[in-house]
Amino acid sequence: MDRLKTALDIVVKASKLGDYDSNVIGMAAEIIAEEAFQMKKAPRGSRDVDGHWYKDGRNQTVQVKGWSENRILTYRRSTYFRLRENALPDVLLCLLVRSSEPGYEVLYNGCPKAVGRVEKDGTHRVIHFRDLKCTNEVLQILEDTAIKSRLKKRCSICGEVKAIKQFTYDKRNTNSYCIECRKAVAAEYSRGGAKAAQLFRQSMRSRWQR
Ligand SMILES: [Zn+2]
Repeated sequence: MDRLKTALDIVVKASKLGDYDSNVIGMAAEIIAEEAFQMKKAPRGSRDVDGHWYKDGRNQTVQVKGWSENRILTYRRSTYFRLRENALPDVLLCLLVRSSEPGYEVLYNGCPKAVGRVEKDGTHRVIHFRDLKCTNEVLQILEDTAIKSRLKKRCSICGEVKAIKQFTYDKRNTNSYCIECRKAVAAEYSRGGAKAAQLFRQSMRSRWQR
């Protein structure tokens, strides 16, 4: 049995039932850590540590955090968790577990002290998504996730990523170009016919397609 594949499939199936996925995400994140990173699970009930792995010649304690696509699409760059500052693991592994398709992304794999900040009372470290990667990478992951979740789509003419409702017109939701481009194409068509409309599409695409 491929545990990793099974866990990733379960997340996709669970997400179809509704937004009940936090336990499932936690389970999947630990299985990813075990199967893809050779983490050995800590005994049940261990606090602050999910397991350990052997790396760079020594045993390192690991804490695994998993976020769902829903969660990062809701809280975006401010998605966060807190760790107890006096019980930090050697390694923090933060994963985005996909539900739009089976898969995951590593958002962080490193020392927890290098990310986030300690809260005023000194007991907890708060770590936001925006702390884990540079701004462009975070925005790219959010955009990719919105596209995968069908909340957004890239227009096949202007190349911009826009909200899915920009693509629902003419009683269809499968349009490949946005409403603005549809209007622009229609204007070109009425001005110079099919040839003009085609030239317009080509020139728009040449601006962003290679
Ligand atoms: Zn467009």
